[in-house]
Amino acid sequence: MSAAEHADRTTRQGAANDPIVDWEGFDFETREVHAGEYPDANNGLRVPPIALSAGYVFEDFDDQVERFSGVPDRSGAGAFFGDDEATPGPIYSRQGNPTNAVAEERLASLEGGVSAVAVSSGQAAISSALFALAKGGDHIVSTASIYGGTRILFGRSFARFGIEVDYVWDIDDDAEWERAIRPSTKAIYTESIPNPRNDIVDMRRVAEVAARYNLPLVVDNTVGTPALIRPFEHGADIVVHSTTKFLTGHGAAVGGAIVDGGTFDWEAAERAGRSFPLITAAPRPGLRSMLDRFGPGAYARATREAVVNDIGPSLSPFNGFLLHQGMETLSLRMERHVETSVEIASWLAEQPEVECVDYAGLPGHPLYGLAVRDYGAPAEDAAEGAAAGTGSVFGVTVRGGREGARAFFDGLRIFSRMTGIGDTRSMVLHPCTSTHATFPVEIKERLGIGEGLLRLSIGLESAEDLIADLRAALDRVD
Ligand SMILES: *Cc1c(COP(=O)(O)O)cnc(C)c1O
Repeated sequence: MSAAEHADRTTRQGAANDPIVDWEGFDFETREVHAGEYPDANNGLRVPPIALSAGYVFEDFDDQVERFSGVPDRSGAGAFFGDDEATPGPIYSRQGNPTNAVAEERLASLEGGVSAVAVSSGQAAISSALFALAKGGDHIVSTASIYGGTRILFGRSFARFGIEVDYVWDIDDDAEWERAIRPSTKAIYTESIPNPRNDIVDMRRVAEVAARYNLPLVVDNTVGTPALIRPFEHGADIVVHSTTKFLTGHGAAVGGAIVDGGTFDWEAAERAGRSFPLITAAPRPGLRSMLDRFGPGAYARATREAVVNDIGPSLSPFNGFLLHQGMETLSLRMERHVETSVEIASWLAEQPEVECVDYAGLPGHPLYGLAVRDYGAPAEDAAEGAAAGTGSVFGVTVRGGREGARAFFDGLRIFSRMTGIGDTRSMVLHPCTSTHATFPVEIKERLGIGEGLLRLSIGLESAEDLIADLRAALDRVD
């Protein structure tokens, strides 16, 4: 970009002294620091503060009536969760909060979506995202390799509420999709980088299938993060996150978010016989549908008002603060997470005690081609077989099965033995006896969750120290 274009960006919103309020069009690294911030009229605070207030004052009787009847806000107080004219003033923090709104706008900007809703955990994000699309009697199709907690959520709570989930194992097999998708199917669900096996998904391929059947594609981008991959650029319609992980980044706060890409054609789906009444139907006689009122942001708005507000998984503003602050350094941290991961994955692959390393970005991995395309190594480096950065969560299988895994696990001293990923600290977990312990043996086998497999989440410590720790632990493997 030329200097003149840069100057244009910063001046196009008014005089040189006016604060920039719309960060669209700026680079990723600028938006992760600034998008969503707002000038503080009271004290000029530079950092958006933690707004600990459960509710919001109504100016007078008529203002209360208007806010509850969904009349557009006149006071401007509602601007923090939707600054379009259709937004009524805020009522209560279960629907939204100014601190969380900073995080929502920042994340929507980084993902390239139109709007986001922050919730209390990744599981809340997945449930809320899908409850806005499917009701009892409906059906969802998911790719088979997904986060263990999501598979448990689908198999237990979703099943209890009458929402059935079927899995597709080979995303390239049209016949398998054809068999799985029913008239009552309401979404296709997948992940950018599944863990523990780093078996990255060709989202463009899944998006093609979703488009063919008029289905919204929901992608869990927790492990990818928008710093590495932006699912909307690959055909996704909705993105969900466990913000507990890389986005907040320091392992201190549980949270989640739903991002609306604003791309799904709800009316075309309706015409094709797939109905999404929360988005396209009038909520009450006399009111217009969410789609009429909010256009491309209708899905996020429906999720906020008709799912999150009803069920109640709202995010604490304290955690919302940690989230918007964490995102300020996302790209820097991800660069380092990935650089160290590539170094460690390559090193592990050479060790005699290691049977296999599941890192798609390593040359020789069956998904290496896709890794280069989506997580690329620049073309000239890829031609020389350079690794591609498919995140920092991957599997390593040591020899000796469960006993080998036990010796290795117990021998680590810098790595923390714990469930969790995406922390500044490196972590290790034995999926077979933890996240996947309740899975039937045949599903574990099919997913490749063996007795010798360990999941690593590489943190921000020095690669040399981590390699020394891994080497000492491998020394204990017979
Ligand atoms: C951790 C995780 C979740 C669940 O998120 P919580 O914040 O722990 O509820 C969902 N999806 C993926 C990919 C995860 O890693």
